[in-house]
Amino acid sequence: MGVRVELLTVGDELLRGDTVNGNATWLGRRLTEAGVEVTRGAVVPDELDVMVGALHDALRRADVVIVTGGLGPTSDDMTREALAQAAGVGLLRDPEVERRLRERAAERSVPLRPDALRMADVPEGATLLPNPAGSAPGLRLTLPDGVVYALPGVPSEMRAITDESVVPELRGDRVCACVLHTATVWESVVAHRLAPVEAMEGVKLAYYASPAEVRVRIEAEGAGLLAEARETARELLGSACYGEGELSLDRVVHGLLADRNATVAVAESLTGGLLGGELTAMPGSSATFAGGVIAYATPLKHTLLGVPDDLLAAHGAVHPEVAAAMARGVRERLGASYGLAVTGVAGPEPQDGYPVGTVHVAVAESGGGATTRSPGLPVPADGARARVAVRQMTVVHALDLLRRVLLGLETDDPWPGWAEDREEAG
Ligand code: ATP
Repeated sequence: MGVRVELLTVGDELLRGDTVNGNATWLGRRLTEAGVEVTRGAVVPDELDVMVGALHDALRRADVVIVTGGLGPTSDDMTREALAQAAGVGLLRDPEVERRLRERAAERSVPLRPDALRMADVPEGATLLPNPAGSAPGLRLTLPDGVVYALPGVPSEMRAITDESVVPELRGDRVCACVLHTATVWESVVAHRLAPVEAMEGVKLAYYASPAEVRVRIEAEGAGLLAEARETARELLGSACYGEGELSLDRVVHGLLADRNATVAVAESLTGGLLGGELTAMPGSSATFAGGVIAYATPLKHTLLGVPDDLLAAHGAVHPEVAAAMARGVRERLGASYGLAVTGVAGPEPQDGYPVGTVHVAVAESGGGATTRSPGLPVPADGARARVAVRQMTVVHALDLLRRVLLGLETDDPWPGWAEDREEAG
């Protein structure tokens, strides 16, 4: 299905570990987003024979090879030679590129080193790809086994040429993709739920899970099929899907609050400020975020947030009513439209007899009403990881509860009507 791309990143400094291979990471992400399948990546030294061998190898498997690095002016920059040798053609000096190199040097009042003209040498038959960010153009060369793109190693130049030339050429109309975001539902449950979409001919699904969130990438052969698959998936996911494309839950919540001219204040216990951090991550958050109170020690839940002493004495700090009282308290004290509160056990040890992963989140609204949710989080077995995961999952559950309240969606059950899927998915 679709084109298969291999990446070849060139440079001794990558192999030695002097430079982080950010180009491979960035290309992988960008191409995947564009619906182009990246099937393999390799790092090779600045050695002509190795590069030629690697090109031949890659072209045996893939339709397209993208090479980055080694297009500069110095003698260790050998991508042009490698490409010419792999294709069995010579190098020709391109007068237009030479003219531009001379022009750039003159503009900067620096003499053009004879070496620099190597950047105007182009394998016979190659097409030049404009470089909006630098001197060396990118190259595209069609070989009998497939197409090779050669891009400069400098990340800003590589990215500019990829976005301007490579992605539009590769994407074509063959494969289309979109990404749906879900919150608070397990990956296995999402996958089970989407089985009918998975079964559609010409559709491929991929899941990317992070604590309490799953992104689902839908890839389809053609825009019409993608639209159909996306619509079915959204119907099946219902309110668990909070949006599509480049977005995050905090941005969605910020947008919903901004639309209503509303603000939120947070009261945090086990998350120790993570929730406030998330709600202030994006520029413009001052319009929707009032502030927060980290009431970590139990007595502070009373002194700072007004949680009744007898409630704390009867149940301890980990209780849905405590979460609700924290949310009400912070809303009133900070003068916000909504109060959002979390309390629970991050671990590694149980607290007040409650196991790790017991969490209560609450949203308070004007008029004194509060909505709570007690999700029961799936806790990783390893204690240190469990603590990190529980805290992150709690943030997602809190943001999602606020989203649900703002949109008037079902709030009681994190898996509305999904009990069966959950059981079957295991
Ligand atoms: P130049 O015109 O600068 O010589 P080039 O195409 O020859 O460009 P390289 O010399 O291989 O590319 O790399 C130039 C710079 O780009 C390196 O010093 C490094 O900082 C960065 N770079 C190269 N390859 C990568 C990579 N795979 N990931 C991140 N950065 C890279």
